[in-house]
Amino acid sequence: MFTAYLEEVKMKRKSAVTITGGLIVVLVAAFSTGCPYTPDPSADLLLVNGRVYSLAWGEPSLDGAISPDAPNDDAGWRPDADALAVSDGRIVFVGSAGDAETYRGSSTRVIDAGGAVILPGLVDSHAHIQELGREKVQANLVGVQTEEEAIERVAAYAADVPAGEWIIGWGWDEGEWANRYPTAAGLSDRFPDNPVVLKSLHGFAVWGNRMAFTEAGIDHTTPEPDGGRILRDDSGGPSGVLIDQATNILTAAIPATTDAQMRAFVLAGLETMARDGYVAIHQAGADTQVMRAFEEIEAEGRLPIRVYAMISLRDEDLCRRWIERGPRDDGGMLTVRSVKAYYDAALGSRGARLLEDYTDRPGHRGVSGSDYGFDEELAAEMMRAGFQIGVHAIGDAGNRETLAFLESVIEDNPETRALRHRIEHAQVIHPDDFARFKPAGIIAAMQPPHCVEDMSWAEDRLGPDRVKGAYAWRTLRRAGVPLTFSADLAGSDHDIFYGLHAAITRRDKELQPPDGWYAEERMTAEEALRGYTNWSALAAGWEDRTGVLKPGLWADITIMDIDPLVQGEIEPGRLLDGRILATIAAGAVVFEDW
Ligand SMILES: [Zn+2]
Repeated sequence: MFTAYLEEVKMKRKSAVTITGGLIVVLVAAFSTGCPYTPDPSADLLLVNGRVYSLAWGEPSLDGAISPDAPNDDAGWRPDADALAVSDGRIVFVGSAGDAETYRGSSTRVIDAGGAVILPGLVDSHAHIQELGREKVQANLVGVQTEEEAIERVAAYAADVPAGEWIIGWGWDEGEWANRYPTAAGLSDRFPDNPVVLKSLHGFAVWGNRMAFTEAGIDHTTPEPDGGRILRDDSGGPSGVLIDQATNILTAAIPATTDAQMRAFVLAGLETMARDGYVAIHQAGADTQVMRAFEEIEAEGRLPIRVYAMISLRDEDLCRRWIERGPRDDGGMLTVRSVKAYYDAALGSRGARLLEDYTDRPGHRGVSGSDYGFDEELAAEMMRAGFQIGVHAIGDAGNRETLAFLESVIEDNPETRALRHRIEHAQVIHPDDFARFKPAGIIAAMQPPHCVEDMSWAEDRLGPDRVKGAYAWRTLRRAGVPLTFSADLAGSDHDIFYGLHAAITRRDKELQPPDGWYAEERMTAEEALRGYTNWSALAAGWEDRTGVLKPGLWADITIMDIDPLVQGEIEPGRLLDGRILATIAAGAVVFEDW
């Protein structure tokens, strides 16, 4: 029996095997390969008793129809494997529990998944990771409804902050508050001796007290900066809130973040993501200091998950250094082959550039391009140097102009098309422009949470016709545009169950509206999941390395207690109760909570 077992192993592995038990160790020479040294073939990690969805079957159609070779029939989805083995950071086996046994060795860690769902590792493809980490140490105003409530929260947070020290907070919703911005008065009365700066949820507005404005030197003589607004009181002085590009004149006065603080922010952000099931993030804009943090943490071997860093185009010195170095894409934990640019601002604060006036503010169309600080020359130079570019574009004019820019660079430099440039958000598209993405090979990097968070006011801004081109995932898919999904953290909740639910239903966390907002743009459960896995891999140029579960690919794996394919089809609301059980990045279990 023992010999038979060995023969079987030999046939399967053509390699060596260690028999468990710790007493007998038998080496079977790998005669078939003629190799004089045969490494221990047992896996580092063996996952058994799982519901594995490899996603290694055919892509759904552009309408979302499931591929004929998918593990799906009249009875619905079923896993296509129940075990998986990992060695040296790579998947070495995906298949049945029986076959997986050959990978069990004396040093193999075996995890009984207890029927949990094992998926390709989740990727958030548009993140601002240092902001997530920063939130841990700043006043959190997410969800505040009124000015008074915000002031109370800051007071509770800042109880021990000595006089003179800056108090920084974030998270009030500039979209929701756009018609009733607060003033500096209440904040100044409560905090007469500390400069207070409260950034908005999406970063397009900032609210401060009198002392902060004084420290920043902003008064009635301060001119309106390009692409920004200083809200003013009756006497022409600043009333307390700055919009879009004007936010910088206040935030610039905040004492600079030290390198040590930045490293701590970045690490805290990445560790949060690991806990929340993510194996990688695409950093949507890294300046010199953030890049330094990534490189230092990577050099120390402490990156818990992969980082796909998009260099900030606003940091010209950094861009020049990387043009010299060239892209870095060696399959390690840190990839640097992309650059992030901003073409226009946000819809909520009416900074996004529209082709026609804002429905709720006649005469106003927002700002874009060079008026918004977009450096065409540098962007084109980065593309020619081999970098993918991801351009933030929100309004229909912002998107049209971004498409024209990308098309023109590609026309002059056809080799740059293969870099798969991206439009970040691609939030409002004119009907004529959907067909322009595919010929230029452009990916739409979109945020399911934005749709369900903006739906209460998006139609006010756009009116009933233009809104049909907003958050138009299905229309983009039908136009053959690859999508990749994310939360745009820290502005939106990156919880994967919220993201999947938003993509599948176009409903918010309260399951409203019951049938979904412009439901014809919904994704299927499979498409939603792919948006956070193999479609994200495609957006990073990683499709031969990860995104599905297959031998030879990175061992980047997420395990959860709910089946997103089954529940996503039957009762997607239940996804909101899902929980991450384990995160495996590059073969290491970076989080587990069974
Ligand atoms: Zn962003």
